[in-house]
Amino acid sequence: MQEIIKSIKQVLSQYYPEGEILAFARLLLSHITGKPYASIMAERDLTLNEEQQKHLDSVLDRLKKYEPIQYILEEAEFFGLPFYVNKNVLIPRPETEELVELIIGENPQQGLNILDIGTGSGCIVIALAKYMKGANVSAWDVSHLALDVAVLNSKRNNVEVDFKMVDVLKEYPTDKKYDIIVSNPPYILEKEKQDMEQNVLSYEPHSALFVPDEKPLLFYERIADMALGLLVPDGKLYFEINQAKGQETITMLEEKGFKDVTLIQDISKRDRMVVASPTPPKEGL
Ligand code: GLN
Repeated sequence: MQEIIKSIKQVLSQYYPEGEILAFARLLLSHITGKPYASIMAERDLTLNEEQQKHLDSVLDRLKKYEPIQYILEEAEFFGLPFYVNKNVLIPRPETEELVELIIGENPQQGLNILDIGTGSGCIVIALAKYMKGANVSAWDVSHLALDVAVLNSKRNNVEVDFKMVDVLKEYPTDKKYDIIVSNPPYILEKEKQDMEQNVLSYEPHSALFVPDEKPLLFYERIADMALGLLVPDGKLYFEINQAKGQETITMLEEKGFKDVTLIQDISKRDRMVVASPTPPKEGL
């Protein structure tokens, strides 16, 4: 066991910091052996058979090219739930878990109708369906390849989601009203590319990440307009946002007539979420 970890460290030491290599080693060994890490640790003289060793070597080769481990293992955890991921969807981010936590915390009612726009892997809508009692959930994405992943994830997590392929910049269904609309649309500006990690830039789908420099709120404005028609009067719109665009997003929503527009920071104290409603909150609630 220690020998195997030592060899993993040797191979990766010039590419990643030690803490990250140890985290990779845990994930890899339990993935390759199919056993929880705690039980592998107890097996001091663990050895890999030829096939497992080959598997490990091929994963290490991909890690050396900075491919995210979630794509290599085709697995990511979000809100304690297992998700299949591939290069057609973003790897779920911890700040998005905070958005899900906010929505669950603020909306204890049962049987809400919820729509997730730009669902990607389905992580937001599936976590909401799992943890909000009787929720009726729908999710849209422009990419059929992303929807394939999301459908798989809904089955894996045993939840029913009404998935639709929709390009919100074009036509969209208007036959249903929602209590909650949530979206984590593309929000990184092209000019912000230079500050990004190579593993994100080289491997994650750019269509899920980037907007033109001159249209930072492209999706936000469109979704806000749509939400005015799709939300019930006391419904709520939830966005994950670019940390540099908090004030701009608030102003845009207020100008469109949204009430009770609130900016919320993530755990790293960055402006990250916005909540708004088509009508003011009722007095005394
Ligand atoms: N938070 C993601 C990142 O920093 C971006 C998600 C998005 O564009 N919606 O990579």
